[in-house]
Amino acid sequence: MIQAPKGTFDVLPADAERRALVERTARRVLGAAGYQRIETPTFESTELFSRGVGEATDIVQKEMYTFDDGGGRSLTLRPEGTAPVCRAYIEHGMHRLPQPVKLWYLSTFFRAEAPQRGRYRQFWQVGAEAIGSAGPDSDAELIVLLAELLEALGVKGTRLRIASLGTPATRAEYRVELTGYLRARADALSPEARSRIELNPMRAFDATDPGTREVMREAPKLIDRLAPDDAEHFAAVRELLDGAGLRYELDPTLVRGLDYYTRTLYEFTSDALGAQSGVGGGGRYDGLIEQLGGPPTPGSGWAAGVERILLSGSEQPIAPDPVDLFVALPRLDSGSARAAFELAREARRAGLSAQLELAGRSLKGQLKHADRIGARYVAIVNEIGDSTLKEMASGEQHELALVAVIPAILRGDRL
Ligand code: ATP
Ligand code: MG
Repeated sequence: MIQAPKGTFDVLPADAERRALVERTARRVLGAAGYQRIETPTFESTELFSRGVGEATDIVQKEMYTFDDGGGRSLTLRPEGTAPVCRAYIEHGMHRLPQPVKLWYLSTFFRAEAPQRGRYRQFWQVGAEAIGSAGPDSDAELIVLLAELLEALGVKGTRLRIASLGTPATRAEYRVELTGYLRARADALSPEARSRIELNPMRAFDATDPGTREVMREAPKLIDRLAPDDAEHFAAVRELLDGAGLRYELDPTLVRGLDYYTRTLYEFTSDALGAQSGVGGGGRYDGLIEQLGGPPTPGSGWAAGVERILLSGSEQPIAPDPVDLFVALPRLDSGSARAAFELAREARRAGLSAQLELAGRSLKGQLKHADRIGARYVAIVNEIGDSTLKEMASGEQHELALVAVIPAILRGDRL
């Protein structure tokens, strides 16, 4: 038996409704703030991600699905959305549009990871980007919009953590300082933290071992090393979030797996999620467009995982679409079959939802089926031009000319 590949899943009709709600809600929340939908290709040049996301990141090092297109070009299934959106911004000369260009997307992404609850090899993200504005207000607006989206979708137990990374230069200097600090105290660190001093000193902030934690309490924090204008930018973002009444924690140890971030960085987690607690996050990426060969252009944005939104959201069942009319056929002669077919089609043209008996059930079976799908009315097509219209809620029924069926339903006649 052939099964779906490991780490992938089918979206069955029962799940499709909740996903459609995510899409409608994103369109409403983001559209109201002037963000417009963009979609980019499922695969891109590998170089876009190695240059954009960063050669040294986990994503590029070990999570990309990369293949040769047969003509010697290396392509990669997109692992994230920001680099492709920035590529499109450059490619279509969007710097000529009024700035910032505000975009959102809802697409599939691919990462070769160990599958588990909330972590898949093909997954969906909804994301938003504001490209072309450097101000703290666009960071704060994006954070508020993500909070609104998560709230509107009933995501429970959310926590927002924010930080500022400053500039790459500040970060490089800080790294030297932190590495020196850790080297001088290597004996007090766990073997794991010790082995990471040179490679990834920031990870020591996440350690659980008491010795390492003790050392990290006094460790220098990047947030205290920010250049004055970066610190000012961060203070302004916080002021706007305070004004908006959004609760957050300052987390000087926040790190995210993409190299392109500058200044503002944030992540929403949910207690409802267990180990894979990240629901969504983002930050500012002022160097990225230039890195990708475009004009120097600031940008800011986030992405949230749709499956994690659904896992941590309210489990309210979504009402199925209403069925105004079910067209039943007591006899299977070609005349009434054609009349039934026409009636269902006419009803849909009149704006009603209408389904036709397609399984050759007995009349009793057809009425049972109409009840199961929640049809408001059943039209039993007796013979050409003649029908019985039954209102399911009351159980009342009337003989009615076929041509009178649709007008009766449109008027909402009580039978
Ligand atoms: P994590 O720490 O869980 O690996 P991440 O930092 O790699 O997350 P981002 O690259 O910031 O995640 O992606 C944004 C969001 O996309 C995450 O917060 C998460 O909700 C979702 N996400 C990321 N990777 C996966 C995956 N493999 N399967 C499902 N959702 C994912
Ligand atoms: Mg990850």
